[in-house]
Amino acid sequence: MSAPRTVLVVDDDDSLRMLTTRWLKNAKLHCLEARTGEEAIAVATANAAAIDAIVLDVMMPGIDGFETLRRLKANDETSPLPVVLLTAHATGDKDLIEGAVGGAVDHLVKPFSGPVLVAKVRAIVERSRGERELRLKLRYAEETSTIDALTGLGNRRHFEARFKEEAAYAQRHKQTFSLVLLDIDHFKSVNDTFGHEEGDRVLVHVADVIRSILRADDCAFRYGGEEFVMILRACEPPNGILAAGRLRAAMQASPIELGVAKEPRLITFSAGVAAPSAAADFATHDLVSRADAALYRAKRGGRDRVESD
Ligand code: GH3
Ligand code: MG
Ligand code: MG
Repeated sequence: MSAPRTVLVVDDDDSLRMLTTRWLKNAKLHCLEARTGEEAIAVATANAAAIDAIVLDVMMPGIDGFETLRRLKANDETSPLPVVLLTAHATGDKDLIEGAVGGAVDHLVKPFSGPVLVAKVRAIVERSRGERELRLKLRYAEETSTIDALTGLGNRRHFEARFKEEAAYAQRHKQTFSLVLLDIDHFKSVNDTFGHEEGDRVLVHVADVIRSILRADDCAFRYGGEEFVMILRACEPPNGILAAGRLRAAMQASPIELGVAKEPRLITFSAGVAAPSAAADFATHDLVSRADAALYRAKRGGRDRVESD
């Protein structure tokens, strides 16, 4: 069952607030109430995920409806909540214009008709639900487009973006950073011997071990098939080699059991470390190709080792 449609009703006048909530409750809408602008902001902030619309009186002691609206719109959590203003008849166009400019989606002039209130709020609540779902879908799409579904590490696209940020950070702080590119040794033989699914388990295992040795400022990505890349902040190449060594030790300490026989198997990798030395190296391509050349030397040298640029 979906969560009840919830409306926050804000009015300093007790009898008007009760009248408004009675109409909405009769229309099967759940109501929260607030007597002042400050209280409305507190209730809206605490319940932003549950509220579908806000009915907001303009004339209130303390901060009025317009100021309340402005503060709701200035807060990331409450800004998407649609607001219907209740304006006094006497003020005419001026209030309607100020409300529209402030971001109110609709208004009702007091004394309003109950059925009109219900019809407007219902329509706004449904639209608000649809928009909320779209926002959630968009956020999910944004997240999944940068995350590797198998290992949960960032994917190559995420790496490219993070690399640019890291290069900018390093230049701003006159620091360096290290790139460690690593490739699992003889991974094809895991697939060939135990099957692709067990191969996938090995990739997840390696990703988990990488995560376990990473420091807070560092990050790792799945660069491609059985290749991973780590960005180590404020790290000179000798420290990059040490970090790769830490990973090597952690892998040696955690063999993975494969196949029906649960055969413990040590997974090794070869790695190439590179760090930017000149402005040109801050371009992704230069540094990755230098780390790749070092990785190639590690493979040629017999695998299960770390080489640096
Ligand atoms: P080397 O030591 O030279 O790196 O040898 P290798 O066998 O690890 O490297 P190779 O490039 O010959 O083979 C990599 C294999 O990785 C081939 C490919 O089928 C497999 N692979 C790539 N992506 C995935 C994946 O997502 N899951 C599984 N199970 N296998 C994958
Ligand atoms: Mg390999
Ligand atoms: Mg490879």
